[in-house]
Amino acid sequence: MTGSGMVNEEPRRAFLRRMAAAVPAVMLGAWSSRVLADDEPVPGADATGEPAAPVRDIDGVEFVLRSEWTASWRPRPERMRLADRFERMTVHHWGVDASGMDQGRDAVARRIDGILGAHVSRNYGDIGYHFILDLAGRVWEGRSLVFEGAHVSSENSRNIGIMLLGNFQDEKPSDSQLRSLGLLSGFLASRHKVPEGNLFGHCDLASSECPGRLLYPRVREIREKGWA
Ligand SMILES: [Zn+2]
Repeated sequence: MTGSGMVNEEPRRAFLRRMAAAVPAVMLGAWSSRVLADDEPVPGADATGEPAAPVRDIDGVEFVLRSEWTASWRPRPERMRLADRFERMTVHHWGVDASGMDQGRDAVARRIDGILGAHVSRNYGDIGYHFILDLAGRVWEGRSLVFEGAHVSSENSRNIGIMLLGNFQDEKPSDSQLRSLGLLSGFLASRHKVPEGNLFGHCDLASSECPGRLLYPRVREIREKGWA
């Protein structure tokens, strides 16, 4: 792995094929103009304390479903808007230095659960981001892609929210995290037919330092490289 967080085209395509086969479609958004029926369970809402599902590890990128990391808060659909489609993606950072923290799966799960709790206390229907990427490069499902996110004030419409744990004003994103960001954003762009160039940093859409001066240039690199 180079420090750029980029991957060659052929391994990337092979990865995307394996990802599509191994990761539950609902996590990545497989519906088309679908609307939940009144009695249909909300995807990601099945936090029943059942035994943890097997780890989904694809080329070193581990995927964790929402139901595997939290039983604290169920999504509240009445406080969210259904997403009809997605046409842009926005990258955020946590804004808290995570480099000295325990990067084990359980510790990260508790950290993300804390973020969810904070968002619930603000009356969000669920955690605001659709995906969270930790320093080990794991991809954690956040808010179901059935719903619009809550991550850029007044710019949430059709906008997939991806948050990287860390404070990238001060620390560098890890190579694993950048690799996962490149792969995930490429996959989502292709699955949702996101137009070229529509990968943003929070600071592109609002007055903000997010996702930080050490991450934002990498977001631009991915955007300029494109996903065709
Ligand atoms: Zn942000």
